[in-house]
Amino acid sequence: MAADIDEDWLANLPKVELHIHLEGSIPTAMLLTLASKYGEDLPGPVEKLYEFDGLKSFLEFLDWICGLIRSNDDLESIAYEFARRLSEQRVSYAEVIVNPTHWSRHWTLDRLSEGLIAGFERAADEGLTDCRLLLSLLRTQSSDAAEGLVDWMIANRNPRIVGLSIDGNEQAAGRTGPRFAHAFAKARGAGIATTAHAGESSGPEGVWDALDLLRVNRIDHGVRAAEDPKLLARLAREEIVLNVCLTSNLVLLYPSIELHPLRKLLESGVRVTVNTDDPELLGITLTSEWAKVASLCGWSREDAVATTRRTIDAAFCDEVRKRELHLELDYYLGLENSEK
Ligand SMILES: [Zn+2]
Repeated sequence: MAADIDEDWLANLPKVELHIHLEGSIPTAMLLTLASKYGEDLPGPVEKLYEFDGLKSFLEFLDWICGLIRSNDDLESIAYEFARRLSEQRVSYAEVIVNPTHWSRHWTLDRLSEGLIAGFERAADEGLTDCRLLLSLLRTQSSDAAEGLVDWMIANRNPRIVGLSIDGNEQAAGRTGPRFAHAFAKARGAGIATTAHAGESSGPEGVWDALDLLRVNRIDHGVRAAEDPKLLARLAREEIVLNVCLTSNLVLLYPSIELHPLRKLLESGVRVTVNTDDPELLGITLTSEWAKVASLCGWSREDAVATTRRTIDAAFCDEVRKRELHLELDYYLGLENSEK
């Protein structure tokens, strides 16, 4: 990190996050309380709760987590508490990925979105983090199921639902871009913004498909694009934002931070944002993640502010809200200067 930047400064900076999964953001204490309330056995010993042998067992664990949330009150408070925790990190605005397939044991899409929106609305009314939803497909779903979700989104417009996402294990699912192209085209045609997990469990070819077949506005992860110079040039030229999650990549992809391609992406002119992915499962916060990225890239305060502005610009909310987020940042920086 440059001399003018440290974890305290990053903690106070008004931040924006675009790649965080609700299912991976529920504190252990809350999970244990819910498991005991409903008499559910833990999938393993509590000290090994977050040890997974691969993405498959990880995704099954997410199903287990969501199976613990059963009443409207449970759900509303999960959403509210999520926003409250992000507020403690001074996150002004967050786009939260929710994958309805993990919730299907107890929740229809109507009830799920209603409960989450109620919790996020209560939080926003109290001045906590402004949370919006990205509804996500799973790579193993069928094209019909994907279109079903998009049809639901078109019929149920709400300012708190800002986009369509897709996640899941691309390595296990194989090449799925062609299967989902129609659903993404339908979303795009209806003015719904889109993002896709790619270039993490898939190589550069997953990012090419996300651009050419899904024609997304942003990419979640996308770090393996660094293996393909042509792809890097395209991402830079088309100003496609990659929502990078450094620690998550260090757990699943790269054995050491020195091998992570973040600096290469930046040197190639690719736009990146800083995100946590699954903060509770990874034991991180957005502030700790920012500190790690700033240290790896030698960022100054100026770099951190520029990245925050880029993140705001890449958000899927309307232009008025983006302007407010920029003004909030201006106000904070103005106050900081007046204190010098
Ligand atoms: Zn993710």
